[in-house]
Amino acid sequence: MSTTDTTTRITVNSPDLMQELGRRLATLLRPGDLVLLSGELGAGKTTLTRGLGEGLGVRGAVTSPTFVIARVHPSLTGGPALVHVDAYRLGGGLDEMEDLDLDVSLPESVVVVEWGEGKVEELSEDRLHVVIARAVGGEAAPGAGGVRDVAHADAVADGAGVTDGDDVREVTVTGVGARWAGADLSALGPT
Ligand code: ADP
Ligand code: MG
Repeated sequence: MSTTDTTTRITVNSPDLMQELGRRLATLLRPGDLVLLSGELGAGKTTLTRGLGEGLGVRGAVTSPTFVIARVHPSLTGGPALVHVDAYRLGGGLDEMEDLDLDVSLPESVVVVEWGEGKVEELSEDRLHVVIARAVGGEAAPGAGGVRDVAHADAVADGAGVTDGDDVREVTVTGVGARWAGADLSALGPT
């Protein structure tokens, strides 16, 4: 990472809000972009990608691919296709990804890669790196207690019962490379 990297951090209190973050993220993306999602299993990478697919207006439900490593969702609106890669199942890293031989033009698509922790070193220079972490117990970011109270109030208002701290995620979005230098990521933050 360099001094030109641009970063924003967002607290996300529910799966619905994670999906909404994905929809907001979609507004920043253009053909050829690579979005790297890292975080442990169950962090919310696929949930975020689902919103991203909605935002891009692509065909087909975004799910966790069980039997395939990558899935192509063509645009319904003349925009870029979404290529959704679940690299969590790729043992060998990016080399395997290049072997996928997808029947799609990557420069004309938005490529989203779900990645496990600690495997990002070899990826492309220009990328939006989204790190999703569970906010654990008292170790959440300063102010998270207040945010959690808001989540709780929303859940009660929805009749959805109590939302506990297990639903809180800290999302860090970093634009890496010339593509993202000086980019305004504020559209991702709370309104
Ligand atoms: P991953 O793709 O990172 O393995 P998924 O998106 O498939 O994760 O699953 C995330 C799980 O965590 C879902 O069951 C979702 O309902 C739950 N969850 C709870 N809180 C959140 C949150 N704030 N954001 C995203 N998912 C959440
Ligand atoms: Mg997933």
